[in-house]
Amino acid sequence: MSDSNRPMPSDELSEAHELDLIALTEANNELMSMHRELAKSEAMLREVNKRKDGLMAMVAHDLRNPLGTVSTFSQILQQRLGATLGEQDELILRRIDAQTQRMLHLVDDLLDVTVLERGAFDLDLEDIDLHALLEDIVESQSAAAARKDIWIELVEPDGPVTAVMDRYRMAQVFDNLLSNATKYTPPGTGATIAVSCSRDDTAVRVRVDDQGIGIDADLLPRLFEPFARSGTTGTDGEPSTGLGLAITRSIVTAHDGTIEVASEPGRGSSFEVILPIGTTPEH
Ligand code: ADP
Repeated sequence: MSDSNRPMPSDELSEAHELDLIALTEANNELMSMHRELAKSEAMLREVNKRKDGLMAMVAHDLRNPLGTVSTFSQILQQRLGATLGEQDELILRRIDAQTQRMLHLVDDLLDVTVLERGAFDLDLEDIDLHALLEDIVESQSAAAARKDIWIELVEPDGPVTAVMDRYRMAQVFDNLLSNATKYTPPGTGATIAVSCSRDDTAVRVRVDDQGIGIDADLLPRLFEPFARSGTTGTDGEPSTGLGLAITRSIVTAHDGTIEVASEPGRGSSFEVILPIGTTPEH
């Protein structure tokens, strides 16, 4: 029998156990101290994040009124001076108004995202006829889509599709999905966007399928984060804030729902909002 295979005498064995125990205790203490440090850093990060949100909301809120005033005054000027202005000056006034509207839109989205991500908002719940709600939204967006030669088709559901939801907030969700579908479909192709809703025993679903540019696979996992992709514009130069889908997800989550996306670059994207039946959000 070799030395290494020889059994240890019992006092050597208990000494080895003791050493193991000391090492284990030390490791445990170290782990606990790391855990405490981590908890401290986490609390600090949460606080910094809260302050950042508060600051963002304050800046957005304080920008809103002056921007609104600039927009109103430029519209008044256009009306008052319209007939007397030369083509160039009229164009300048229209551009001032268009850019101000863009900033207002961004400020509104920023305000929404800070409120929604903190979950600090109430839902005004009521029974909604989803098909009728989608009809209104499709109607309001069809003209803008038609200008790009894009056609929105609202599929007739098999039966009534009703769900308990906040009308204003969910309209915001479907508005975002539909305007993205138009925004990210190339103009002049005669493409179709299909909008549909359905209901089974477990859930209510709303789908928006487009035949647009699609979404790169590496963007998909971050798609619903604020500013997941900045600096893009629509296929016809439409402005983009990078906040629409973050707002959309927060609203759907507040309704205890989920949102799914499937996409193939060059072929199109499908977004589906799924609201489970029988769980009423606590708001
Ligand atoms: P925005 O459209 O203002 O940039 P969103 O949060 O709505 O912000 O969308 C984030 C990004 O996701 C967009 O910039 C675009 O790249 C991509 N995207 C969203 N919807 C679609 C779609 N239907 N087809 C292709 N890309 C899309």
